[in-house]
Amino acid sequence: VRPADTAQVAAVVRACSAARVALVPQGGNTGLVGGSVPLAGEVVLSLRRLDALGEVDLRAGQVTVGAGATLAGVQSHVRPHGLAVGVDLAPRDSCTIGGMVATNAGGINVVRHGTMRRQVAGVEAVLGDGSVVSHLAGLTKDNTGYDLAGLLTGSEGTLGIVTAVRLTLAPLPTYRVTVVLGFSDLASAIDATAHLRLTVPDLEAAEVMFADGVEMVAEHAGAAIPDALRASVSLLVEVAGRSDPLEQVAGALASLPASAPLAGEPAVAATPEQRDRLWLFRERHSEAINALGPPVKLDVSLPANEMAAFVDALPAVLPASARLSLFGHLGDGNLHVNVSGVLSTALSPDELASAEVVEEAVLRAVVDHGGSISAEHGIGTAKARYLHLCRSPEEIAAFRAIKRALDPGAILNPGVLLPPD
Ligand SMILES: Cc1cc2nc3c(=O)[nH]c(=O)nc-3n(C[C@H](O)[C@H](O)[C@H](O)COP(=O)(O)OP(=O)(O)OC[C@H]3O[C@@H](n4cnc5c(N)ncnc54)[C@H](O)[C@@H]3O)c2cc1C
Repeated sequence: VRPADTAQVAAVVRACSAARVALVPQGGNTGLVGGSVPLAGEVVLSLRRLDALGEVDLRAGQVTVGAGATLAGVQSHVRPHGLAVGVDLAPRDSCTIGGMVATNAGGINVVRHGTMRRQVAGVEAVLGDGSVVSHLAGLTKDNTGYDLAGLLTGSEGTLGIVTAVRLTLAPLPTYRVTVVLGFSDLASAIDATAHLRLTVPDLEAAEVMFADGVEMVAEHAGAAIPDALRASVSLLVEVAGRSDPLEQVAGALASLPASAPLAGEPAVAATPEQRDRLWLFRERHSEAINALGPPVKLDVSLPANEMAAFVDALPAVLPASARLSLFGHLGDGNLHVNVSGVLSTALSPDELASAEVVEEAVLRAVVDHGGSISAEHGIGTAKARYLHLCRSPEEIAAFRAIKRALDPGAILNPGVLLPPD
């Protein structure tokens, strides 16, 4: 069903509630953990028609938009006012603000602006009984009870259907510097990132790539590897602000700690074309990995002190024939772990069973190192059976109590986030 406004969404939810029919809310359907995909005959409720873009409130630096507005649509709407959405994702033309709130999306600028949770100043939503909760004033100070917007953010459509969002906007940077730093090992890149976070206030991205991944992208995209990306570990750093940040960057690089020695000269992109050429290697990682066959794809986060040890420990938990590809948002301790060679396009039951073994082994290694089994993609249906690895029985019981309160008929996204009771 494709309702056009909040009242129609509420009518659909009430009808489904009365008929005891489950619903799957769907935005741009770009989610990576199966949360927007019906598995058992649920009604798919698309929010795409709720795409209104409110007037930009310059005094507050905020805007209210419909849940179905795409990220790119909102970006274009606020850009002429010198404003930006703090979270940016590659599928910006398709993913919706409602879906981004529901998954608490992250992306490359989290190191600067935080996840979607930090951009949300208010939410309107339809709860599981069809009632509408709306708190869109966007007041910075508003201590009047439970933070429903915070609760709905990251709830993956299991507590309510987001229909509108009040977004806090970020200043649009006018200057941008892109630098690649090469290191001989991951520990050095982690220490360099910690240093940059402390010394470069305008740090906007710190993305990590490894030599084998860079080679894989070069082969897949038919692109020559820039000299800057030839180190064992490359850190793609972007700094952006309202004044030229080059001095900030130069100062930070001149004072890198002894534990973060550079392997070669840093490379600075001097033109937009050079910047695009560097980013191509980061942005086309997923595509190059997919070309090897369906990967076992995991999105995890690790404490900075444990990440290098986790990466060292990974090969031992994988089958010898598996090919491991890692990349991610080092600025927020987020690694994308991809294991190729376990699944083929046949997706036979044996392969799927092997994939589950690999998945569980990697996630257990993550938890053993103090990490999270989902950094930014959410739990969806894909990881629901592993939730217990990083959430205690008491926490899961509290989750279920909240779910019962806001969705008493259990019609919203059954099977997502919480494993079957
Ligand atoms: C190439 C690619 C790159 C990506 N990069 C990133 C990245 O860097 N960082 C990141 O965090 N994610 C990333 N993603 C994942 C995805 O884009 C995000 O999770 C995005 O927020 C999903 O938005 P969507 O509108 O497509 O939601 P959908 O995929 O339609 O839905 C996602 C979940 O939210 C629920 N939902 C959707 N709309 C609503 C609503 N209005 N109310 C309640 N629940 C709702 C769905 O039921 C589902 O559980 C990437 C995906 C792709 C394909």
